Amino acid sequence: MDFNDTPEEAKFRAEARAFLEANCKPKAAENDRANRSLNPVEYMKAAKAYQRKKAEAGFAGITWAKEQGGRGLPPIFAVIFNQEEAKFDAPAGVFAIGLGMCVPTVIAFADGAIKDRYVAKALRGEEIWCQLFSEPGAGSDVAASKTRAVRDGDDWVVNGQKVWTTGAHFSDFGILLARTNPDVEKHKGLTMFIVDMKSKGVEARPIHQMSGGRDFNEVYFTDVRIPDKNRLGEPGQGWGVALVTLMNERLAVGGSYGPDYKEIFEFAKTINSPTGEGTLIKDEAFRMKLADWIVRAEGYKLAKFRTMTALSKGQTPGPESSIGKVINANQMMDIGNTAIEALDHYGIINDPALAPLEGAFHQSYMFAPGLRIAGGTDEILKNIIAERVLGLPQDVRVDKGVAFKDLPTGR
Ligand SMILES: Cc1cc2nc3c(=O)[nH]c(=O)nc-3n(C[C@H](O)[C@H](O)[C@H](O)COP(=O)(O)OP(=O)(O)OC[C@H]3O[C@@H](n4cnc5c(N)ncnc54)[C@H](O)[C@@H]3O)c2cc1C
Repeated sequence: MDFNDTPEEAKFRAEARAFLEANCKPKAAENDRANRSLNPVEYMKAAKAYQRKKAEAGFAGITWAKEQGGRGLPPIFAVIFNQEEAKFDAPAGVFAIGLGMCVPTVIAFADGAIKDRYVAKALRGEEIWCQLFSEPGAGSDVAASKTRAVRDGDDWVVNGQKVWTTGAHFSDFGILLARTNPDVEKHKGLTMFIVDMKSKGVEARPIHQMSGGRDFNEVYFTDVRIPDKNRLGEPGQGWGVALVTLMNERLAVGGSYGPDYKEIFEFAKTINSPTGEGTLIKDEAFRMKLADWIVRAEGYKLAKFRTMTALSKGQTPGPESSIGKVINANQMMDIGNTAIEALDHYGIINDPALAPLEGAFHQSYMFAPGLRIAGGTDEILKNIIAERVLGLPQDVRVDKGVAFKDLPTGR
């Protein structure tokens, strides 16, 4: 394991920091509040302007090939930029799914003309993408997707429903996993398409979250026509295409969001313990939890250095990157819960203007359950760790060798 940047990495980190200092405000409660107070139209304008500057400065598509407008650098440089960007209030979130997952899939599977049409515009932030995989009956088991695409001349005609589609309401395009052959095993009858979200028959219905946000949607497809040239990969090989997207997703959602043990440590020095004996930091039960959080966070930090070292040497990180999300999402929820409980009846106030740390503990407590599900639930990731890291026996597969149409998946 190597904890230090190479001279080349250190130079890149300094360049990245200079760009971010010139174009973003540092992460601070007042800047976050200013961002949150922007209306969605203003926010989108700011996000698109920032993405364009990033592309012009060579900090978008860091790992993408030069002919795709990228910089052709190894993945460690993208990690370094992300680490630095996380210290600023950069409006980059709306592009995460498109540039982190969808467009890399387009680059991997589309032909030259399609890449020319879509990639550069996405990189410059002119067009936004979403991922249309999950359905009401196909989440963890996304290969069970039922949305149908039927060939009709030069087009495919799509009918069905997706759910939990982040950003569908403001996206221009999406990558859509659809069933094109129900007569073969579920993994073998899928095909991936690029879908224009403004097409006739596409309807995005927003889902309102308990945090107050409206990030996801149900998306309905009624006789939506997709030209065959927008197919990614061969018919029936959509599962292989989806795996490329999912691999990128696991890497993208592993990070830590919201307040961590350092914030609650400082916070605990300022509020009274529920036992009434001094501040919370003096409370034995709290101190034991704090020790656990520190141990887990530091353990994860070291595991991450292992991933960083692998990337720095040009190797691909293994399934152990699944560990990060299980630790971070659960810890985030536990820290938020402890802070809210410690606030006693003030814990119900989540108004940023009144709540401690501008409601950061409340926000992260309400966001954490989503993080425990997105990009693979805790249970799915623990299965991956058990099977692929620890080498334990595989889960039982009752659907092996059975045609999709014969699976008992409901009507
Ligand atoms: C914040 C967020 C953003 C998202 N964004 C998108 C998006 O943009 N596009 C998109 O397509 N989807 C998106 N999703 C959907 C996400 O991919 C699914 O919610 C996730 O894969 C889980 O699927 P599910 O909700 O259908 O739960 P299910 O798969 O039905 O799981 C229900 C429960 O059963 C458990 N379970 C299932 N299978 C197993 C097993 N084999 N072993 C043990 N336990 C199991 C699960 O862990 C879970 O507790 C998003 C979800 C969230 C929370």
